[in-house]
Amino acid sequence: MEEAFLEWRVGADLWAASTAMAMFAAYVALDLARGVSSRHTFTAWRSLIASALALSTGTWAAHFIAVAGEPLPFKLGYDSGLAFGSLLLALVTSVVGVYLSARPDLTGTRVVVAALVLGTGVCAVPALSLMALRLTPAPHWNLLIVAAGWTLACLGSGAALSIVAAQRRSASQLGLGWQAGVALGLGGAVAIGNAAVLLATSVPLLSQSLSVGRTGAATLSALAVLGVPALLALLLMISVLEARFRQLLKRTRDEVKRAAQTDRLTELPNRSMFEESLQVAAIRADRQQHKLALLFINVDGLKAVNESFGQATGDAVLREVARRLRALAGTHDLVARAGGDEFLLMLEGNPTTQDAAHMAERVLGSMNELCRIEDHEISTSCSVGVAVYPEHGTAAKLIAHTAAAMRNAKRTGGGAHCFFEERMVAGARDQVELLQDLRRAIANRELELHYQPKIHAPSGQITGAEALMRWKHPQRGMIGPNVFIPLAERYGLINALGNWLIEDVCRQIRAWRDQGLRMRVALNLSVHQLRQADLAERIVEALARHHIEPSLLTCEITESAAMDDTRVTLQMIEQLSAAGVHLSIDDFGTGYSSLSYLRQLAAEELKIDRSFICDLETSADARAIVDAVVKLAQALGLKVVAEGVETEQQQEILRRLGCNELQGYLFAKPMSASALALWAMNDEGPRALDFRPSLFGDTLPQTIIS
Ligand code: C2E
Ligand code: MG
Ligand code: MG
Repeated sequence: MEEAFLEWRVGADLWAASTAMAMFAAYVALDLARGVSSRHTFTAWRSLIASALALSTGTWAAHFIAVAGEPLPFKLGYDSGLAFGSLLLALVTSVVGVYLSARPDLTGTRVVVAALVLGTGVCAVPALSLMALRLTPAPHWNLLIVAAGWTLACLGSGAALSIVAAQRRSASQLGLGWQAGVALGLGGAVAIGNAAVLLATSVPLLSQSLSVGRTGAATLSALAVLGVPALLALLLMISVLEARFRQLLKRTRDEVKRAAQTDRLTELPNRSMFEESLQVAAIRADRQQHKLALLFINVDGLKAVNESFGQATGDAVLREVARRLRALAGTHDLVARAGGDEFLLMLEGNPTTQDAAHMAERVLGSMNELCRIEDHEISTSCSVGVAVYPEHGTAAKLIAHTAAAMRNAKRTGGGAHCFFEERMVAGARDQVELLQDLRRAIANRELELHYQPKIHAPSGQITGAEALMRWKHPQRGMIGPNVFIPLAERYGLINALGNWLIEDVCRQIRAWRDQGLRMRVALNLSVHQLRQADLAERIVEALARHHIEPSLLTCEITESAAMDDTRVTLQMIEQLSAAGVHLSIDDFGTGYSSLSYLRQLAAEELKIDRSFICDLETSADARAIVDAVVKLAQALGLKVVAEGVETEQQQEILRRLGCNELQGYLFAKPMSASALALWAMNDEGPRALDFRPSLFGDTLPQTIIS
């Protein structure tokens, strides 16, 4: 007799609800899976678990929704272990499936493995749930239908995951439309797996569920119908909120980054952004064996515009320059503001040297057009330095090289372009080396002071000396202050150098004083030192420490430094003078003295610059200038010193004109402190000169005499 079987009574509404649940779960799982590839381990794991939880509970619930009605005409109960075991199984297969499919390198093999795991899971979950019914007599399984269902479920999952893989290869995020499509595929696979298992199960007519009295079917169906959707909704809400928050964070971060890389005035990229882009462009150029060209553009005369028309007009000129450069640049070129009045332009697309020169000329032409700003017509021009990558240097040095080329263009009069040449930075390299040596020299005390006597013009006697710095370089030999003082000023070493000078001069005055020589010494102060707030204090302290009368010290300040009439400089000069230190205006005649200012300055002495002295014999003009300076000094009650006296004739003229003191190679070159002391001691010096008796002061030279 043929065995009779019962039919599964699953209404269309339940099939539809079950399928919808599976698809919704897949959608939520996909949303949560976005975080699995995060670099933060915690986020990655949390997303993996949440995504797998969504997919597994959905798969599990899809089955229990389908059987939520009364699918069989007898009471059903479930073995709790097996029923929840099926949920655990769903969770395990989902973890594996999600993990594999969320990897950044979603290869074909991974798609296949993930699809097989998911396909197996969606069939195994309902099968295990049916086993949890413990139907007796046992149902028959139509393995053909199961295999067909499994195959379709695997194919559905595979198709869905292939979409994910394709999107990932194109490096784009899964859009909402695609996400819905993938969810249809995955959810469809779950529904097919479930339906196939139910259809493949033939329940004998006399079957009973032995699990009746354990977990009731109604409980599990309620969990599936109410609990799981609630959980999914919660997970989706968290995922959406998190995505929103992450988006907001990214946008804020992008904005901060953009602001940090943009010049506020011109809205062009700034130097740091340009440097980054240059690095990237250089890598690209290397790969394609292409060239890059870089233009460094300096707007000539912006300082004058600022001074004549005000800062706002200067800013407007810069904005106009930026606009013109932007208009000249091609779509692949990059314009940036390097700072101040400097702009950068990078040409990509394998430009030739001619292309770069052509662009430089276009930039020059464009800048030469008048700038109309409010009521003003401002004429602009610029200097352009050009370098080509890779032949003119590495990406790291290219900007510096274009800047050197630009400076060269400027030196030759501006309004022109100039290509980079190696010689343009050779000097700079030398300077960098010298600067390093100078730092070491200050620490290692390689610097020393030489002293050049000052002669009382009427009597021809030595009245004092000027301290002049020398650097005994271990390799380069003796280096003069004209080389290293400007370097020290430019790189912030002048104060360290100046402090050492003050200390050493005071120490030397004391040492001479102890030998009975009351030498007046002049030291040279740099304009940078005058801006040092505690300079006067330092000098006063050093004098006190060595017990020296302030009148023995003279500070020489160049005319240009003295006329740098910032309040600070003036104050400093007044403080020094108040402390009793003498002041001398050095290199007089080379700066632009204002007579009224000169009158206010608390100076005692003017030193006429050497350039006037060397022309004295040949030039009537030079004589007239020295004559005028002497008269001016006399009118202001100042002493006049002539420096750089080299010949007897010059000496004669200067005496006649009324100079008070003379200084120069004619009398003595700068010499070491001990040489000067020896000279004072036994009259053996470069020339037969007397030291003024007052120099031997109150204490007669014990040590000198002995
Ligand atoms: P300066 O203060 O005007 O010093 C006079 C310079 O002329 C010295 O050069 C001196 O050696 C040189 N000289 C003196 N007589 C003659 C002469 O008859 N013929 C020629 N051709 N030259 C003569 P030096 O020592 O090379 O110093 C150059 C400048 O460096 C100084 O000009 C001064 O401005 C600066 N300097 C020197 N020592 C120091 C220092 O300790 N601190 C600061 N801040 N500057 C210093
Ligand atoms: Mg001097
Ligand atoms: Mg001088």
